[in-house]
Amino acid sequence: MKVLVVGSGGREHAICWKLSKSAKVDKIYCAPGNAGIAGLAECVDIKAMEFEKLVAFAKEKEIDLTVIGMDDPLVGGIVDEFEKEGLRVFGPRKNAAILEGSKAFSKDLMKKYNIPTAAYETFNSADAAKKYLEEEAEFPIVLKADGLALGKGVLICETKEEALAGVDELMLDKKFGSAGDRIVIEEFMTGREVSVLSFVDGKTIKIMASAQDHKRAKDNDEGLNTGGMGNFCPSPFYTDEVDDFCKKYVYQATVDAMAKEGREFKGVIFFGLMLTPKGPRVLEYNARFGDPEAQVVLPRMKNDIVDVFEACIDGTLDKIDLEFVDDACVCVVLASDGYPVSYKKGFEIKGMEKFEGKDDYILFHAGTKFNEEGKIVTNGGRVLGVTALGSSLKEARRKAYEATEWVEFENKYMRTDIAKAVENM
Ligand code: ATP
Repeated sequence: MKVLVVGSGGREHAICWKLSKSAKVDKIYCAPGNAGIAGLAECVDIKAMEFEKLVAFAKEKEIDLTVIGMDDPLVGGIVDEFEKEGLRVFGPRKNAAILEGSKAFSKDLMKKYNIPTAAYETFNSADAAKKYLEEEAEFPIVLKADGLALGKGVLICETKEEALAGVDELMLDKKFGSAGDRIVIEEFMTGREVSVLSFVDGKTIKIMASAQDHKRAKDNDEGLNTGGMGNFCPSPFYTDEVDDFCKKYVYQATVDAMAKEGREFKGVIFFGLMLTPKGPRVLEYNARFGDPEAQVVLPRMKNDIVDVFEACIDGTLDKIDLEFVDDACVCVVLASDGYPVSYKKGFEIKGMEKFEGKDDYILFHAGTKFNEEGKIVTNGGRVLGVTALGSSLKEARRKAYEATEWVEFENKYMRTDIAKAVENM
């Protein structure tokens, strides 16, 4: 069969890599893809938000299955556009992708269906938000832009003054555009964060695995928030007790709530959980694989991913047993120094051939491209995800860091403590 993947990051590389292992797949296209994806798929020069062009391409090439990796096209309704033309596509429709696309929606859903999350209020005007901060709020407090803001629309405010300035930033200065037309003000919670990825077919949900991100740019969780500097799977903090709790109060409850609202969800739900002293709470939902979570979860998955994608589309996920290898997986992101603020691009990347023929080491590309001379160069803040499988987290970590030395480019930067805190757990 012919498959089209939409997106261009490490997540889409991981999806293409997993598809390339499927006996059912003859040809993979990726729009727009990157230099690493080009080794597995034919990259097509169409951007993820160019729905009409993507649909026309899928029809022309008689694509059997399209997989949407990114949040923006999902929230924008790309799945509906494909379905209108009778094309098979994996991902939630627009009315379900709102689970990620609007924080006010997801918070209201959790409240209505008693899914544990932080207490919150929603505001459509800066004046009302400020009045609440002046008269009722307790600090620290968390401000969130309602819409998509590349993970940067969340402000943790220690004091009232900071929070008042934050309202200006989000709602009046429009730092994140219309994403800040409405904001959620939320109770500040403490605890460890764990991500859980799942497949959903509208009614059945199957958990893939837990993973743990390292969002801050620098070691010891210092520096600015990023898209993620590396992660590991599974998370030792995701205990049986947490799993039981979430199975009882979070996972199926979310899928059922969406169905009851007439927003049947098919695709991947990413649960961002915080393990607070009072128990697990949902921090956020994403309506797609996490990036870099996909890079540590998919290498552990045994199933043919085409079977799982098709079961989600057809509503037959109850017939699938998801299986994972026992090995742990660690991904260390090689970034351009200066990310997430400003950084130079266009440096040649060397040493990538060292990954060839080694099944337990995978190099996922994120911000890479071919330059005019056909050489692979850096083309983004997060450049590569160096991923390794090992018999324990410690071994996977050792191997991932070993492999970070194989690749060289100017301004290469990485955190040195990915999975360090858990390596002996
Ligand atoms: P991303 O898409 O990058 O995951 P996002 O913009 O969707 O981020 P959230 O996941 O809701 O935003 O929040 C980003 C981060 O802010 C969380 O990972 C967590 O560290 C912190 N955070 C969010 N809400 C709270 C809260 N109520 N209490 C404490 N910290 C919080």
